[in-house]
Amino acid sequence: MDCLFCKIVAGSIPAKLIHQDEKCIAFADINPQSPTHFLVVPREHVASLAHGESSHTTLFGHLLTTAAEIAREKALAKGYRVVINTGPDGGQTVDHLHVHVLGGRHHTWPPG
Ligand code: AMP
Ligand code: ZN
Repeated sequence: MDCLFCKIVAGSIPAKLIHQDEKCIAFADINPQSPTHFLVVPREHVASLAHGESSHTTLFGHLLTTAAEIAREKALAKGYRVVINTGPDGGQTVDHLHVHVLGGRHHTWPPG
């Protein structure tokens, strides 16, 4: 499948990996929007949050707890922003589910 994040999961495209386990990997975003910006990505190809099914409940929970664990390791004690862009109106540009974690600055609301 011609999917950028599947290729990163497979190791055929390099990334700055910061975490890997049996269900997901996390790596630095190539175009960071905050001093800390990483992506948590399931090894399984799921096109977006909207493509999730009840069988994904444990996996999706794991992505969020992993995001929080890495944020703790990176000492983002003042907080951080977690974003899952979904579909064209959500601003999703890579069609493989990913959780953005942004930290190291104050994030305003609402987002653009
Ligand atoms: P989204 O717009 O929510 O689909 O986010 C896709 C994200 O993937 C963007 O923040 C990009 O900067 C990031 N990205 C694209 N290609 C790479 C890559 N090769 N390695 C790391 N991050 C990437
Ligand atoms: Zn994929």
